[in-house]
Amino acid sequence: MLAMIKRQLGQTGLEVTELCFGALPFGPLQKNVDVVTCTEIVIKALESGINFIDTAQMYLTYEPIKRAMKATGIRPILATKSTASDYDSMQKAIDEALLLLDVDYIDIFHLHAARANDKVFEERKGAWQCLKDNKAKGRIKAIGMSTHSVLATRAAAQNQDLDVIFPIININGTGILHGNREDMLEAIDSCVKAGKGLYIMKALGGGSLIDQYDEAMTFARSINGSASVALGMVNPEELDFNLKYFEGRDAKTLSMPSTRGNKKRFIAVKYICNNCGKCRTACPNEAIIEKEGVSFIDDSKCLTCGYCVGACDLFGIRMI
Ligand code: SF4
Ligand code: SF4
Repeated sequence: MLAMIKRQLGQTGLEVTELCFGALPFGPLQKNVDVVTCTEIVIKALESGINFIDTAQMYLTYEPIKRAMKATGIRPILATKSTASDYDSMQKAIDEALLLLDVDYIDIFHLHAARANDKVFEERKGAWQCLKDNKAKGRIKAIGMSTHSVLATRAAAQNQDLDVIFPIININGTGILHGNREDMLEAIDSCVKAGKGLYIMKALGGGSLIDQYDEAMTFARSINGSASVALGMVNPEELDFNLKYFEGRDAKTLSMPSTRGNKKRFIAVKYICNNCGKCRTACPNEAIIEKEGVSFIDDSKCLTCGYCVGACDLFGIRMI
């Protein structure tokens, strides 16, 4: 096995592998793989040398991560996040993460703020204060923000308390809010210059760039100051492929797992939808519109993140 590159994450003192295990897609919001299989995939990731896992309160994937840590005795660097906006809800989210992951501290805790703008720290000041207080108590080692927004990324560069930024960026600029790819690169660069740790999400545009894997990944890996790329992996074949690629194998010599060709798609089921609008509020990319009295998902804008799935009380959003 070739060694995977590790990099310092800004000034956090954390040294992360260049490949970060993204724990969204195998969970209930997307592929909904059973917990035993998810645990096996995380075990394999840890035993193969990945030392960095990114999850979220919303992803509902703490259990397989906890089981994999127990099975291997390996404690990776853990990043999680919450959409909480006030102090008490953020405190509950932190307590829940510590309990369900069965750890004494979380390495990185983010404001989960996909759709936020430059007012994010003002609008969610209670939640932000809570993150700072928990960091002061040692329950969190670093605090940050995950975002799709150029405006929020620019605001992050100015925030003295923020340690880590986790923005969306990819070769096509897919999913970026409040600006384009160049705007986001510029905002990211101001974060790096301000000493923030940087790792990136959606380098494959939520799956839409899978046919340009090598090109998309070369772009993502060349972003100045980026310590790691978070990639969701839903089966051992995808994990193997990414490991080999990040360990330096030429993509042309690797065979793409067959599942990579299966483009996933989300739909709002017409006969279930009562048009409450919660999915439209939850969608980070304004991909859901109201059409003929129900919600309708525009595939051309959908990032296949699955956030709308958890927002619908009627289980009216399905992946097909
Ligand atoms: S959240 Fe569910 S019920 Fe509400 S509009 Fe969306 S699909 Fe329809
Ligand atoms: S419709 Fe929006 S929330 Fe749902 S999967 Fe697509 S981008 Fe994500």
